[in-house]
Order: sequence, then structure tokens, then C-alpha cells
Amino acid sequence: MFKSVVIFIGPPGVGKGTQASLLADAFSIPKFATGDLLREALKNNTPLGIEAKTYMDSGKLVPDQLVLDLIKGKIAKIPNGIGFILDGFPRTLHQAEGLDVILSSLCHNVGLAIEFSMDEEERIVRLTGRRLCPNCQRTYHILFAPPKKDSLCDYCSVELVQRADDNEDVIRKRSVIYWETTKPLLEYYRQKNILMKVDASSSIENVFSRIKQIFSELN
Ligand code: AMP
Repeated sequence: MFKSVVIFIGPPGVGKGTQASLLADAFSIPKFATGDLLREALKNNTPLGIEAKTYMDSGKLVPDQLVLDLIKGKIAKIPNGIGFILDGFPRTLHQAEGLDVILSSLCHNVGLAIEFSMDEEERIVRLTGRRLCPNCQRTYHILFAPPKKDSLCDYCSVELVQRADDNEDVIRKRSVIYWETTKPLLEYYRQKNILMKVDASSSIENVFSRIKQIFSELN
């Protein structure tokens, strides 16, 4: 049984979401991506979604407390002793400390933090070509992973969309925020001796093998 809480950290476009889905499927464990949860709140027009929208559209981080409350609600529902993956959370030191408090009250702790690294220009090509199924959240790429038919999701046959924040200006802003605000988190986890680095520029299969290898050493 997989028991650890695993955190995926990396700038936008490194493939964290793809790898989180693969890993969650492979180990039958839950994964939570705060970006997906916020987009869902936005789609459902909840007060949280409406408040988050202006931050998200301009590439800024949503205030810490909103995200902490959101993730706390999800984690609290997981039975004790079951591990899970957090993708895109925490993104600030304050969120990381808040997460530790939430987890300790639920008898959990972060067992592993994986840093995904990739060249900036490669990330921009990946992100500007990214398309999303608004129904199942699966991602495609117009050049590297196109859908089988036109611009329809292979699974839902729903028209794919481009995320509002996947344009070059906003991508660059999100990257700056990553380097200034999220990267310091790496030191936080390095000091706890639980940080591992993965070269995310390799193929999806190679990156996934590397992550599985890290996992087998962990358990
Ligand atoms: P992502 O899908 O991870 O690229 O996130 C998309 C957007 O959602 C980000 O640019 C932020 O505006 C917001 N967001 C996602 N996760 C967080 C977080 N942990 N803290 C603050 N804002 C977040």
C-alpha cells in the first residue's frame, strides 16, 4: 500500500499533471491539482471560482488561504494511511507550512517532494500548443500529442479549449512567479531530506520510469 504524501513542484509546462495522472493510476491513489480544482470552481461559478478568476487569468497566485482551505477540504476526506499526490500545491512557503499543519492534524506527513526541471523555451513551446478537454481535463498538444479527430477529446468528443493563461505573456509571468515564490520551497524540502530532482525534458515514458524508480526506493 502506498502511504506517502508526494508533492510535485516545477514551473508551468514541465508535465507535472501528466505524470501525476499516470502515477495516481499506477498506484491507485488520489491526486489533487489545485489548478484543476480552481478551474472546476470557476466553471461551476462558485464564490471561490469567481474570486480566483482574476488571479488565474493574469497568471498570479491565488491567495494562500483560499488554496489552503480548498486543499484541506479534499485531504480531510482521505482515509488515514492512504497516500496521495499533490500537483501544483504548495506553491509558497506559507502554503507548505500550512500543509504541514493540516497533515499533522490528520496523522500524515510529506514523504517526498519531486522537482521537475526543464529548459524555459521548451516549456513555452509545450504550453502555447497545449489544449485541454473542458470535460475530463485531459491535455493534448497540437504538435506532439494531437487528438485523433479534429480538435475533439478522444474520450469525451468535446471540443478542446486553450487555457486562458496559456498565452506567451501570461506564461512568462507565471514562470517569474515560480522562480521568485515557488522555487524557495525546494530548499524547505531539501532541508527535510525528501527532495528528488527529475529531468522533465525526456519523454513521458522515461520521466515516468524515473519517478517509479524513485518510488520503489521510497517504499
Ligand atoms: P496550474 O494549473 O497549476 O498551472 O495553475 C493555474 C493557476 O491556478 C495558477 O497560475 C494560479 O493562478 C492558480 N493556482 C493553482 N495552484 C495554486 C496554488 N497552489 N497557489 C496559488 N495559486 C494557484
